[in-house]
Amino acid sequence: MTEHSEIKDLLSIPKDIVILTHRNPDGDALGSSLALQQYLEKKGHVVNVILPSEYPSIFHFLKGVERSNVYDLKQEHCLSLIEKSQVIFCLDFNGLDRIDKMGLKVEESKAKKILIDHHLDPEPFADYVYSETSASSTCELVYQFIEDQEDENLIDIHIGECLLTGIITDTGSFKYSTNPRCYEVASKLKKIGVDDYQLNDKIYNTLTEKQLRLLGHCLANRLELIPEYQTGIVTLTRDDYHNFQIGRGDTEGIVNYVLMMNGMKVAAFIREQPTIVKMSFRSKGDISVADLARNHFNGGGHKNAAGGAAYAKLEDIVSRFKKELPKYVQKIST
Ligand code: 5GP
Ligand code: MN
Repeated sequence: MTEHSEIKDLLSIPKDIVILTHRNPDGDALGSSLALQQYLEKKGHVVNVILPSEYPSIFHFLKGVERSNVYDLKQEHCLSLIEKSQVIFCLDFNGLDRIDKMGLKVEESKAKKILIDHHLDPEPFADYVYSETSASSTCELVYQFIEDQEDENLIDIHIGECLLTGIITDTGSFKYSTNPRCYEVASKLKKIGVDDYQLNDKIYNTLTEKQLRLLGHCLANRLELIPEYQTGIVTLTRDDYHNFQIGRGDTEGIVNYVLMMNGMKVAAFIREQPTIVKMSFRSKGDISVADLARNHFNGGGHKNAAGGAAYAKLEDIVSRFKKELPKYVQKIST
């Protein structure tokens, strides 16, 4: 493809490169950014990773994560990095509103922009777009990107760990969003020595006592079922945030427990954070929570995993969710 050779030309001499990913970076956002950084550094480039906000501490083990620049902590520095960059990679997000004020800087920048992402409907801001909604993860696409650059041999165990982390986290350890390709990539990474058992242990067996008790609280006291719509809603109030001293990352994964219940098809996790009400939605099969999030909650995402946010009251968001739900899920007799 000409696109591959154009990018190859672009990257044939050392450049100042910035890699951006989305706010509240998850395993895929971090893994893909750090893997790409290490790869590009091997090619002689000067590469800075910028995260809009801090990363969850469980990802400390990813090589190079401590070198990343956090916009919330060093705004001016991050903006100047973008300003002087010659190439900008945007990973694991599809719209400039996902990177806050940096979005404007990216829009203004004359740097070549390359988007690598697997979300629906990418905004047309990049010069080159690697967007595949059927991909399991951005990490899978970064592997493909490196392969398309004919540099597969540069993928070492550290890059491999980063890439497999994103594949594991975005597929829930190969339980959803899989395709033949992500198994192939995982197989290749295992072949070069990436230890998937250890990665799974580092990623999943890391709850603190507080997080485990918070999970118990959510399921015992904050779960509302709507059986006729095969839906469960978990809510957290501002008081819960205070009582449990909930911090960044403490609520990660809670939404998924709802779908473990027999017969459940939709899960909503709605939480009243200190400044904003944040929502996470999950669904099974053809039910699109991405449409639900986009149409009613200023959000978006994937068909079966989406989210949104609003400056509103918790009760109002819950009511809105209950009101809109019937448009997306068929009622069953219970
Ligand atoms: P989570 O529920 O894990 O925070 O997010 C699941 C998915 O929903 C993310 O991968 C992202 O694609 C999408 N998402 C979450 N929050 C938002 C949001 O506020 N806006 C948009 N556009 N997408 C979101
Ligand atoms: Mn992703």
